[in-house]
Amino acid sequence: MTEIIDNTVLPAAFVPTPTREFNAASVNRGAARPPSRPALELVRSTDDQAAAGPVITIPIPPLPISFASRVLIYKQDPSVAEIGLRRILLRGLFGTGPSNNRIHLSGVPPVAPNSMNDFIQTPDTATFDAVHTFSVVHLTLAMCQRAVGAAIKWQWNSGSNTDPITVFPHAGVTMNAFYSRGEKALKFFYFNKPGAPAPAPVIYTCRSLDIVAHECGHAVLDSLKPGWLSASANPQTGALHEAFGDLVAVFLSLSQLDQAEALIVQTKGNLHNKNFLSDVAEQFGLALGRDNGLRNADNDKKLSQVTSEVHDLSQVFTGGVYDILADIFLLERNLGVAGEDEALTLVNCAQYVFRLLLRAIQAAPATNATFADVVNKMLAIAAADGKPVAYRNAIRNQFTAREVVVSPTPLTQDMASDDILEAVDHPFLRVKENGLQDRSGCCGTMRLREHQLDERYLEDELRQLQGGIGGEEDPHEWPKAAE
Ligand SMILES: [Zn+2]
Repeated sequence: MTEIIDNTVLPAAFVPTPTREFNAASVNRGAARPPSRPALELVRSTDDQAAAGPVITIPIPPLPISFASRVLIYKQDPSVAEIGLRRILLRGLFGTGPSNNRIHLSGVPPVAPNSMNDFIQTPDTATFDAVHTFSVVHLTLAMCQRAVGAAIKWQWNSGSNTDPITVFPHAGVTMNAFYSRGEKALKFFYFNKPGAPAPAPVIYTCRSLDIVAHECGHAVLDSLKPGWLSASANPQTGALHEAFGDLVAVFLSLSQLDQAEALIVQTKGNLHNKNFLSDVAEQFGLALGRDNGLRNADNDKKLSQVTSEVHDLSQVFTGGVYDILADIFLLERNLGVAGEDEALTLVNCAQYVFRLLLRAIQAAPATNATFADVVNKMLAIAAADGKPVAYRNAIRNQFTAREVVVSPTPLTQDMASDDILEAVDHPFLRVKENGLQDRSGCCGTMRLREHQLDERYLEDELRQLQGGIGGEEDPHEWPKAAE
């Protein structure tokens, strides 16, 4: 692994900071300018004022106190060359790192803001990676918080614990990336591109917007639904975790107007043409243990066509939510002369579908949630939001086609507002013989040892200790036996 050498040149267009040349030119321009007219007399006679008429005062809205920094990030990942870099404004007050109250970085050189409070670094350097990774985690958290309309704590936060998440953009050499609840961390590793002739290029997982968003999605979901990481839960519960990571990556991309426009151009406005979403670098997919890239929305799989392996299963849910977005976009777009810009419509539809998804997840059971649980919550929330029945029809139809639910009415008819759809029973979708989910095709988060352990096993151990002898008397509350 070679040291990163900062010898690349940042395109001037990306640098908002005034350069030395700009400043020098500005001084020269000032010197070349003809001398200005004498200043107007500031004190005027009362007669002159009366002649000038009444003074018009323009109300100035009070400026809220706000902070923001400009940063550069990779739009997609550095290997998808035509997508490239993106300059964005991060709202908030950021310290050296960058860092804030929620997110700290570790293992990379800290980056201090420049005199304009911006964090502009050169691509392909460790400091760029620091800023990029921080920014994508910040954007992902911000998108989820917008969706639920509240701040989202990390899983370990409480009244007295406000520990941030620690993000390691260069966590070490291995083909992996994960969220760890125990370490309160997001870890992104790097590796030599497999099969490439020496010197093989180094693939940094932190440089992929999809990977960073996916892993951060696990962290957010673990906070909202701590029971959903349980390895002994229904495989569909694990699949919801995996699907959520992938969907967060898709929706983060579609929160950017230019990305929404790119998708419309690629698909000619029919999002059911899914060739764009799978257009991501294969080597980054490998880092999550997958051979088909990251955008698993690119599928038409039904439950009868997948296995109990959690990632395989997750594709049914990911694809279903994406297809709902495609349907709602076709409903909402207006191609008439007075219609809205299509990309804007898509951004708005994507924002709504993501809000719908996140609120449905919040309302779903705390443990053993199934796809059908979340689908039924989506239907109820869409109705409560006063959305047209076509929204509910789209949700019902997509998940009926994928054999997640059965519809009591033909799919060509409108849904009744209080219909609850029954889940389709697929007895072959179950945990392994040892009582745990098969997570062999999942990302590092799901395969992490601490998340693979069965809580019931740990509780059993503690209960055995309860009957033990020795040790000091202490007021520890031992867990009670399950009812
Ligand atoms: Zn994952």
